Amino acid sequence: MPTPPLNPHLPFGENKNADWYGKDILSVKQFSRDDLQYIFGVAHEMRGMVERIGTFDLLKGKILANLFYEPSTRTSSSFTAAMERLGGSVIPISEVKYSSVSKGESLPDTIRTLECYADVIVLRHPETGSAAIAAKAAKKPVINAGDGVGEHPTQALLDTFTIAEELGRLDNLTVTMLGDLKYGRTVHSLARLLSQFSGIKLNYVSPDILKMPKEVMAEVAEKGVPQAEFSSLEKVLPETDVLYVTRVQKERFEDPADYEKVKGAYVIDPEIMKAAKQDMIVMHPLPRVGEISPEFDDDPRAAYFRQMEYGLYVRMAVLAMVLGKA
Ligand code: ASP
Repeated sequence: MPTPPLNPHLPFGENKNADWYGKDILSVKQFSRDDLQYIFGVAHEMRGMVERIGTFDLLKGKILANLFYEPSTRTSSSFTAAMERLGGSVIPISEVKYSSVSKGESLPDTIRTLECYADVIVLRHPETGSAAIAAKAAKKPVINAGDGVGEHPTQALLDTFTIAEELGRLDNLTVTMLGDLKYGRTVHSLARLLSQFSGIKLNYVSPDILKMPKEVMAEVAEKGVPQAEFSSLEKVLPETDVLYVTRVQKERFEDPADYEKVKGAYVIDPEIMKAAKQDMIVMHPLPRVGEISPEFDDDPRAAYFRQMEYGLYVRMAVLAMVLGKA
């Protein structure tokens, strides 16, 4: 019996000519300023839809494979929530030890397996470049949810969206990144993404052994963005519009003694924040392990919990885009 033609008005019809249809999201280097404007527009609409109706059927019938080889709370659960708010469903694989990975299955084979069942794959993996390897093996879109110390592109999108929503602009900002800038993949992606905007100034505050990698600084410098490195926050805090705090990435240290030397190097608390402007924000990709005192949480400048919520809208936008629905 011939298959009847699909009704284009059914929710599973998709626009295969849309710019982002079927694309992998591997690095922030893929996004132009216009792309960002488009993504944030869609994310903004997603926010309105969630606030008005909660869950809707844009991705009804679509399946996401959420494949996590490293721990995650926010990225994994926000991708799940994003898919389910759009009416789709999720294959969660966060305990790879219970999957065939523990039998020695390679990443490309695991990816080829999952794409038989899913329409899009979200991958977190400890090795830099793993998302690109997965994308090469897959015909379906792969979204990098953190590849070792490499990149975390959807985090940078949500960080940038947070700044835009909270401060109303992305140009003419002084952004200070604090903490583990060597191993923190979120700051590698964010510095690259922010270098697209004009009037941006980046300050990097870190212990000497945790400085921003030279290759990231070179890429940012190519865009003409001024960057300066410090070991103390004092000098730059008063001029800062966005203070982006990071956790020292204990799991990435080769020598545990080095971690002991730098853990707790900076702690943001209400006393320190007296020196900062009133119309600035403090962000953190989370989890925090002591870098921001809970006593600061009630300060209106503490944007890190709101930042998590913006992540839901951005991930809804990204899923809708790569599945041809935005
Ligand atoms: N959750 C973020 C990441 O996966 C930040 C962190 O773990 O410190 O990179």
